[in-house]
Amino acid sequence: MPTKTKPTKIAAKSANRKSKTQNPKSPSPKSDNPKPKSQNLAKSYTAPARLQKIFAGLDALFPKPECALLHENPFQLLVATILSAQCTDERVNKVTPGLFRKWPAPQDYVGLPQEELEKEIHSTGFFRNKAKNIIGAATRIVNEFSGQVPRTMEELLSLPGVARKTANVVLGTAYGIAVGAVVDTHVFRITHRLKLSQAKTPEKVEEDLMRLISQTRWVAFSHQIILFGRKICFARKPLCAECSLASICDAPDKTV
Ligand code: SF4
Repeated sequence: MPTKTKPTKIAAKSANRKSKTQNPKSPSPKSDNPKPKSQNLAKSYTAPARLQKIFAGLDALFPKPECALLHENPFQLLVATILSAQCTDERVNKVTPGLFRKWPAPQDYVGLPQEELEKEIHSTGFFRNKAKNIIGAATRIVNEFSGQVPRTMEELLSLPGVARKTANVVLGTAYGIAVGAVVDTHVFRITHRLKLSQAKTPEKVEEDLMRLISQTRWVAFSHQIILFGRKICFARKPLCAECSLASICDAPDKTV
């Protein structure tokens, strides 16, 4: 039966010498354990050079991006944004001119019978909930904020029907205050196609974008991506042949 032999002192010393004289450039035990491939891939998708290409492509397409919702003041933008949930901006823009002619200011909605408002906004869908939220938000603006749409995320989130997306639209567009990135259906879809985020919720996508993009670009980037989603990078059959980002896009549903 074979017996185990103890390593001799000479053998132990030579092993020791070998490890000390190893090429200093050879990988350390830590780097022998590389990051998973998916992590490295995610890093390359968010590399500064790639981000710059995305920004340059968007700037070329939409040099002066603006909010598509018609409005004349922060309150009207708030109402239009509430109405735009599950509805196109075109449809909202057909409804709001008449609505704001009839009831232009928050004070006009305090005590307004909900059914009357519902009739005006019926075509935007989910009209009962939207009417309830608009009246609730206007009433709170009058009672708690002296008739002015508040300028902080926290205060805006205290209004009925206002979540981060709406608050970011109002703060960024009406007040020029960048506290976050608007993540609507277009931004959510396109950030995934461009692999800027793999998050499952709009809130997490917003956090990813805020980490990747400098604050000075948050407002413009959101507008640009929304326009990009409406004109080129459609949910179905995106116009990849006309897309300036095609060379850096490898979305699975790319059409070229
Ligand atoms: S190549 Fe196609 S899928 Fe990719 S960003 Fe452009 S339009 Fe969207």
